[in-house]
Amino acid sequence: MRVEEGFQPVPFVEGNPYTTDPVLPSLLKRILPPHVFHDVSQDMERFGGEVLTTMRNMCKLATPPQLIQYDSWGRRVDELRTSEGWRGLKDIYVREGLVAIPYERKYQEHSRPYGFAKLFIAAADSEVTDCPMSMTDGVARVIELIGSPALKEDIFRRLTSRDPVEAYTAGQWMTERPGGSDVSRTETRATQVQDATSSPYGTPYKMDGFKWFSSATDSDVALALARTGRPEDGSRGLSLFLIPVRLPLVRPSSSPRPSAVTNNIFIHRLKNKFGTKIVPTAELSIQGADGYLLGQPNQGVKLITPVLNITRTHSAVGSVAYLRKCLAIATEHSKNRAIKGGRQLLKDTPLHVAELARLHVLYRALVHFVFGVVVLLGKTECGVATENESLRLRLLTPAIKAFAAEKCATAMEDCMACLGGEGYMEENGISKLIPDGLVEKIWEGTVNVLSLDLVRATEKSPALSAFITWARDILNSCPDSLAQSLGGPIASLRIALDALTDAYKAPMHPLLPRPALLLFAHIASSLNLLEHAIWAVNTGEPDSATDVEVFRRWVLESGLDVTLENVRRAKNAPGERVQADTNIVYGTMNTKTAARL
Ligand SMILES: Cc1cc2nc3c(=O)[nH]c(=O)nc-3n(C[C@H](O)[C@H](O)[C@H](O)COP(=O)(O)OP(=O)(O)OC[C@H]3O[C@@H](n4cnc5c(N)ncnc54)[C@H](O)[C@@H]3O)c2cc1C
Repeated sequence: MRVEEGFQPVPFVEGNPYTTDPVLPSLLKRILPPHVFHDVSQDMERFGGEVLTTMRNMCKLATPPQLIQYDSWGRRVDELRTSEGWRGLKDIYVREGLVAIPYERKYQEHSRPYGFAKLFIAAADSEVTDCPMSMTDGVARVIELIGSPALKEDIFRRLTSRDPVEAYTAGQWMTERPGGSDVSRTETRATQVQDATSSPYGTPYKMDGFKWFSSATDSDVALALARTGRPEDGSRGLSLFLIPVRLPLVRPSSSPRPSAVTNNIFIHRLKNKFGTKIVPTAELSIQGADGYLLGQPNQGVKLITPVLNITRTHSAVGSVAYLRKCLAIATEHSKNRAIKGGRQLLKDTPLHVAELARLHVLYRALVHFVFGVVVLLGKTECGVATENESLRLRLLTPAIKAFAAEKCATAMEDCMACLGGEGYMEENGISKLIPDGLVEKIWEGTVNVLSLDLVRATEKSPALSAFITWARDILNSCPDSLAQSLGGPIASLRIALDALTDAYKAPMHPLLPRPALLLFAHIASSLNLLEHAIWAVNTGEPDSATDVEVFRRWVLESGLDVTLENVRRAKNAPGERVQADTNIVYGTMNTKTAARL
């Protein structure tokens, strides 16, 4: 039989990622003022078309980068060759203002949700272009906050440009061989240049060290942590530097880009990664590079925090964006695939639709959660956030990053299974998004590392009580008509809030941070869903009944009870449990044996 003969499968067709999305248009309608929503919606619809056409075609031209370390004369050149597709995708990000929009502030604090909404529909069709762009965004913010006037004029302006010819991108160099989550053993040293002519960019230093992960290796500048204090000072001896990735730092836009070797930065090798294969992640040997001190010495960890807050938010938006595409494909596929001798489509098969509905409930919770955080970020950056909102943002940023990465990884696999064998094929995109998306569970903090960050935040400020106050206000704002039908989930949330307050009481059990973060995130996302459902009911939105049902299911059927039980178990875990964990993992007989697998 020839392939044209016999049964002909019907391929799924993906629609415009904005107009066909079940959540985003209505969410933006709620969070944006009407005139902003009008403008943003138009741009989103246009850009959704670009994603399907221009960006997808550009992705086809994206291939892994290559490193040419020596020229034919044996000289070290470290030429980093990236593909036409990769460069083209970065140009689209620049032209579309994915870094620029939040800093142009055309719509003041609403510019953040606008920028992230565009990223949300683009991320899954961009070969992880957002990785360098997220760092560019974070570095722009640091320069906006503490950069000198010259840095603002020469670098910030280029980082936030919409012109691909003049735009710069930026990297972030924190991770070294002794640790990424823990930078206290950073080996890179910064030595102040004696008798140097002062630079308008900051006090000049010479940098020497080895950076273990640099994902924006094709960028123009990087923010790096380096040691100015003594090794025994740990992370308190680290300062923040802006390092030109190539010299001269500012050059005419028509001149070719110099190699990083011009600033004594040598690309030791490109990383051989499980996913994100188009991104030029490398190991860097820094041997006397120029750098400029930003802010006060030995304040590096504190000063780099705005980068982390922004890249973590990008990471969360990216995770949910990948799930968006997987779910869109799985949903579309169910409309064409017939079972039972061809008599029944999957979309008419309750068992299959129930699985899709479960994934859609999760997706809705995550979209509302992530944009709830983005709204607070926009307000904080524009100086219009209340104290309660700023405090909440501090807690919610690590929580959404961890929760989105954790939930989306499994959900993407479930979407893959919804397509049967077709789901496992490279061509449909899901199998590529899974390894690309998995990095979100690691970079900028694993769930455990972020859960410890959340504990620190609750210890150092009244952020948790600010969150509880906000949560109770939302629950109390439920109109009578809803309060009755939603009595069950609302009561469950009140119990969960009490458990949350209890969980974060010092001293915290060492096994508690992770389940406590998952509880916090489940509650926060529930409240964002409830906010939306209340708005939808009050304004008579056509899908308000679905919004209410999604809230109900997310609270009662999506694992809140299990999370609560995990918190209770960890909180009351006897000391022997820690020893039992060790015995299970390493055995009781001989601790020198290899791990038991
Ligand atoms: C594709 C990719 C791109 C990257 N790009 C960059 C980049 O551009 N710039 C950059 O600076 N970094 C980058 N990184 C590095 C990344 O941020 C780090 O790998 C990450 O922060 C984890 O640090 P680590 O590798 O040292 O792991 P570790 O910190 O050693 O973590 C190992 C394990 O230990 C656990 N753990 C660590 N500390 C604790 C603790 N206190 N309590 C309990 N458990 C703990 C973690 O949860 C994890 O499971 C990139 C990584 C990847 C994979």
